[in-house]
Amino acid sequence: MSTPGISILDGKYMVTMDLFPQQSKEFNQIYKFYEYLKEGRFTTTKCKDCGSEPFPPRVMCPDCYSTNVEWIDWPTIGTVIDVTEEAVGVPLGFGKPPLVHALVDLDGKKTFFVRIINCKTGELKSGDKVKLAVFDVDPVPQEFGREVINIPRVFYAFEPVK
Ligand SMILES: [Zn+2]
Repeated sequence: MSTPGISILDGKYMVTMDLFPQQSKEFNQIYKFYEYLKEGRFTTTKCKDCGSEPFPPRVMCPDCYSTNVEWIDWPTIGTVIDVTEEAVGVPLGFGKPPLVHALVDLDGKKTFFVRIINCKTGELKSGDKVKLAVFDVDPVPQEFGREVINIPRVFYAFEPVK
């Protein structure tokens, strides 16, 4: 699997160009999303009061403002509705072209625009199946007292089911 992280910035952490969120519980109240990603799970929060399942996950329900939410699993396989490909001029941080994105129907749960990795130009078409792909991105330096520790991070995309 290719590494679509930000290796061009190897050893030079630049927060303004960082595409990926800080993921530890010190910074992020939805850090569990990333913990579950490491287990290969695609999760979000479900409101226990009104049943809403927003994505990305929230600490507060966007429909009824309740904080009574629980973590649930969503499908890790979806169906491509349409595809867009950038063959040149890929933004910094996305690695080498092509940069492929697709509108994906996640088994009726959600239709969303997501990056597709491990996919050549012209390979993906409407109706194809794609699955969750979790990959490592560069760690983020975090201060603990006088020490700086690199916190490992992951992010997600989808990839063609072969
Ligand atoms: Zn709600």
